[in-house]
Amino acid sequence: MQSKTMMKTNCPRCEGPIPNEAHHGQYPGALSRTDNETEICSSCGHDEAWEQMAGVLRPREKWDAWLQWQQLYIDNNSELQDWVTDLKIKEMKEEPPDGEDEG
Ligand SMILES: [Zn+2]
Repeated sequence: MQSKTMMKTNCPRCEGPIPNEAHHGQYPGALSRTDNETEICSSCGHDEAWEQMAGVLRPREKWDAWLQWQQLYIDNNSELQDWVTDLKIKEMKEEPPDGEDEG
């Protein structure tokens, strides 16, 4: 029986152990730079640091694990599937915004 105070959590960004494989659940991971409260694993913490420096920080909606979860969830929900299809059609119909002037 295990009764540790800390839960073994997995990174919502990559689904890896927090803070890392060797110390799973032994100490807290990094805080996501997207909201400063979501706990992510050390390696994602590094990733985000670089992404932020490069100005390409991925929002939660673009995290791999999140996208996979969405996919799973949607696959099991026909109502949601219709809704998403609807959204995709709307997106396709929308004109891409122009006005990128680079000289
Ligand atoms: Zn991670």
